[in-house]
Amino acid sequence: MPLHRPAGPEPSPGRPASAAGRQRPGLRPLPKSPPPTLEKSLQASPTAGPLVDTFGRVARSLRVSVTDRCNYRCVYCMPEEGVPFLPKREILSYEEIVRLVQVMVRLGVCKVRVTGGEPLLRRDVPWFVRALSRVEGLEDISLTTNGYLLDGLANELYDAGLRRLNVSLDTLRRDRYHQINRVDGLQRVLDGLSAAEAAGFNPIKVNTVLMPGLNEDEILDFARLARERPIAVRFIEFMPMDGGSLWSSDKVVSGREVRERICATYPMEPVPDPDPHAPAVAYRFVDGSGEMGFINPMSEPFCMKCDRIRLSAAGEFRTCIFQAQGLDLKEPLRSGASDEELSSLITDAVARKERGGSLDIHDGTYSSPIRLSMSQVGG
Ligand code: SAM
Ligand code: SF4
Repeated sequence: MPLHRPAGPEPSPGRPASAAGRQRPGLRPLPKSPPPTLEKSLQASPTAGPLVDTFGRVARSLRVSVTDRCNYRCVYCMPEEGVPFLPKREILSYEEIVRLVQVMVRLGVCKVRVTGGEPLLRRDVPWFVRALSRVEGLEDISLTTNGYLLDGLANELYDAGLRRLNVSLDTLRRDRYHQINRVDGLQRVLDGLSAAEAAGFNPIKVNTVLMPGLNEDEILDFARLARERPIAVRFIEFMPMDGGSLWSSDKVVSGREVRERICATYPMEPVPDPDPHAPAVAYRFVDGSGEMGFINPMSEPFCMKCDRIRLSAAGEFRTCIFQAQGLDLKEPLRSGASDEELSSLITDAVARKERGGSLDIHDGTYSSPIRLSMSQVGG
């Protein structure tokens, strides 16, 4: 399936602020739409799904990592020296990812979130979004970014069909930003958020990981951000997916505690008719001035309503974020497996999805068998 996308190397990872340009030089203009060959192959085939596990959960939401590389070293995601990056040949091409997405959409997947690593580091991401937006049956495309390159890409991403954006932002203070994310990037991310607003993204969500002694005292500042701007702030509990460097249960700030602290100043109420599969428990301010969300995988595990599956940048398929070993789809893909064979591998893997994944969520210790970073699994 030739996609004819612009060629060229990816920008180098791990580089500091000044090296990562907003407009990537040498990037050829994106085609307005995929070429006819791809156009034809993007037409829907009959749905073969659904993807059901033995607990009756149906997988509809796919997280696709387009790169394991990142220009940040967030303390809750990886150690300061980083984690080993995969050689480029190990990373799925956009063509390979689109093929797997097509197969999964035929099995009932209707939402895709593009993530990483840092997805905006990979060359031609707007082109990839455009290709996804042409997959018939795919209803919802979103993207999660650290926001560092967003200012220069917001319009292109919007034009490519992206509407939903999550931007990670853990502090509103410049000195702390460097302490938490290990890059001096706050102003660029704030500019990125403004560019996303101006481009018309809706919703824009900010993801915030709170940690005791680091940014816990900014809870009300983030509540004010959600009240004053068209941005929904979501607090995510710190999970043991930091490359084995930092996590311990006493570093988890529980979502309930955060919610109570906000409610004491700005009363909130649950949002009516929430999405039953959304990991975030959504609240709105009673005076109508914005929304907050709480993703509490540690204190209130939501495994039984989970409808997510994941594809790592290297083509590993996971039915749970805490799964140590994913199913390798790259090898069958590259050795000529048919859509039916790929469907069968995926369907079998979903059927085997564990009740609570690989993280022991029931004994209060939350031990994780893996030393992976979220950037490697695809967060
Ligand atoms: N690089 C992009 C970013 O930071 O938004 C996308 C990938 S990142 C792995 C996706 C999300 O995972 C971010 O919102 C980040 O805050 C969150 N995350 C990473 N490690 C985490 C951890 N150990 N616990 C909770 N959330 C984590
Ligand atoms: Fe990079 Fe995102 Fe991980 Fe931070 S959370 S190190 S930005 S992948």
